[in-house]
Amino acid sequence: MTSVSQFRKLLLRWYRASRRDLPWRNTRDPYKIWLSEIMLQQTRVETVLPYYHAFLRRFPDAAALASAPESEVLAMWAGLGYYSRARNMQRAAQKIAEAGAFPADHPCIRRLPGIGDYTAAAVASIAFDLPYAAVDGNVLRVLARVHNDDGDIGSPVIRRRFQILAQEALDPRHPGDFNQAVMELGATLCLPRNPRCLLCPVQSQCAAHAGGRAGELPIKIKRHQPRQDALSVAVVSHGDRVLLRQRPADAARMAGFWELPELTDLPSLSHLRPHGSFRHTIVHTTFEVNVFTGGLKRAPKGTAWLHAADPSIPLTTITRKALALAGVI
Ligand code: SF4
Repeated sequence: MTSVSQFRKLLLRWYRASRRDLPWRNTRDPYKIWLSEIMLQQTRVETVLPYYHAFLRRFPDAAALASAPESEVLAMWAGLGYYSRARNMQRAAQKIAEAGAFPADHPCIRRLPGIGDYTAAAVASIAFDLPYAAVDGNVLRVLARVHNDDGDIGSPVIRRRFQILAQEALDPRHPGDFNQAVMELGATLCLPRNPRCLLCPVQSQCAAHAGGRAGELPIKIKRHQPRQDALSVAVVSHGDRVLLRQRPADAARMAGFWELPELTDLPSLSHLRPHGSFRHTIVHTTFEVNVFTGGLKRAPKGTAWLHAADPSIPLTTITRKALALAGVI
């Protein structure tokens, strides 16, 4: 980057003329901005949009979210994944409701459950015009390229360096727009593969482009090899209900969600029939899920006959996919 002031000017002018019209960009309500930022973590904009609207219809403010049954919150989140986000949002909403208003300063926002550095900076800058740089994957990529920086963005030490670079680049007069502009650039032009440099508003400021290295950056050293695992689940129907078990309240992921039992849980299953299979990836593990149908006279301990289509029952994504494959939902 040759000139910070020029970088800011070019980027903001482009953003204001070309930004995508997204619902959370037409509001200064910190609750709505916070919700969008949480939903957008690890999730694409197109996927988030219907969830965002439905969630706000059901929980229009922090007080409504704070007082709702947890199962209903999880059901509204079902399909988005990373359910700890929904649980933390509800815990944070309870704190906001107790305090009577959304906190309007960065340290207090940062202390809310489930809010990390990135989200606190995004909400503080967009809702309250506070000068905090929000650094997510898109921003790291843009920074690595405009500075032609070879640092491994998976390393905490390097990320701290990028946080400083982002703070130096931030336009203190328009922090919300600036943060969103860098993210927008990363999401629409400065793409992971094949960056669209010819259309880029800050091309003149980009050191990687000048050096012909845009496609090589950022550097990220792989630390996890994806694991493979297999799962055999049983779809057992009883009238219009299906046999489900609830995940333990202290499970590391998707605690309290309902799921199909595995074949090994049902030794007395009869008329077993394979019904197909699919693959599903959770974090670093890809599961080969084999779906069977069968019959059972009595629900074993720890399971229940439930209406799988009832929207108030939170189902795991694997269970949803398996039930759809078996034609139950
Ligand atoms: Fe990214 Fe290319 Fe723009 Fe540089 S010129 S910021 S690599 S899109």
